[in-house]
Amino acid sequence: MGTLEKENENLLYIRSRSKGEIKMERLAIVVPCYNEEEVFENTAERLTERLSALVQKNKISPDSYILFVDDGSTDNTWQLMMAEYKKNYRVQVLGLAGNAGQQNALLAGFACVVNQCEIAVSLDADLQDDLGVLEKMIDKRHQGADVVYGVRNDRRSDTVFKRVSAHMFYLLMKMLGTKTVSHHAEYRLMSSEVLRELMRYDERNIFVRGIIPLMGFRSEVVYYARKHRTAGRSKYSLGKMISTAFEAITSFSIRPLSMIMLMGAAIALCALVGLVVLIVCTVCGMPISEGKYILASVWLLGGMQLTATGVVGEYAGRTYFETKRRPRYRVRQLLRHDEDSRDSYKIQEADTNGRQP
Ligand code: UDP
Ligand code: MG
Repeated sequence: MGTLEKENENLLYIRSRSKGEIKMERLAIVVPCYNEEEVFENTAERLTERLSALVQKNKISPDSYILFVDDGSTDNTWQLMMAEYKKNYRVQVLGLAGNAGQQNALLAGFACVVNQCEIAVSLDADLQDDLGVLEKMIDKRHQGADVVYGVRNDRRSDTVFKRVSAHMFYLLMKMLGTKTVSHHAEYRLMSSEVLRELMRYDERNIFVRGIIPLMGFRSEVVYYARKHRTAGRSKYSLGKMISTAFEAITSFSIRPLSMIMLMGAAIALCALVGLVVLIVCTVCGMPISEGKYILASVWLLGGMQLTATGVVGEYAGRTYFETKRRPRYRVRQLLRHDEDSRDSYKIQEADTNGRQP
């Protein structure tokens, strides 16, 4: 009898502290990986240990698993995933063709697990997010939460630049009226109901952590200190960070448009006042160097117009992409352990639109 069968004999129901009997739920941990060969084996080992410990404690059902999503890595990540899959029955792997970006890799993972679990936790491959709070997340779930956000309350491990830029980003998101949870990245528990709801958001320009709070599910927060990467380097260059922040802002708020409009109105008002002053001065016979004044205002207004046109163009461009309804990613391969014989593995064909294979 295999380990899984033995574990299957465990009780399928546990007694919750607050409620009567609750079902032990099947957990899927979704981990997007892009060129993570340095950390992959250690991550797989530590996640498997953690999962087994939770199963032993009857916190989750014995058929819980980890889904690694390869986001078009160009190093050995995929080969390492295959090797792990073959020896570890708790591991499933999904390979995307090409680098679709972390958000899309996560969505591909969620689409894959939505009907194969009751709860899912998303997590970065570098284990910067404390695995120790996973159990707390599950406890909160047992107490009735549909979403549990992992929030970093200590970012000392980050560089000064990363810390400052993160603070600025969350401040800006607040000012723009979006409902993001500050200092929460992608470490999050969600029930399958939340996942199903998330699948209904079919937009291309998507920022998952902005959408979840919008849905209005019962949510809780757990706090942890962000750690250093176990190995390897961050996959977010300055350019990628700026483009993610820009994506987040434009996919959630049209307030920049109203701000530009207000700015334009304020400038027009100032110009009007200036004109009146000029006329009054001329009437009173004062000498005025109009040339400089006009030149400066032409530059200023020209700049403002360009900015405004640029912002409008960004929104128009995004609308254009949304109307195309392009698939977000293409699934290359999905490996799931066969339900009947867990030692063998089979390759399932998945469709190209990231829908449930
Ligand atoms: N990642 C991804 N696709 C990308 C970039 C990153 O799947 O195009 C994954 C990466 O492998 C990691 C997670 O997203 O698991 C977070 O990336 P990283 O640790 O580099 O970000 P940081 O912690 O520096 O913000
Ligand atoms: Mg990281």
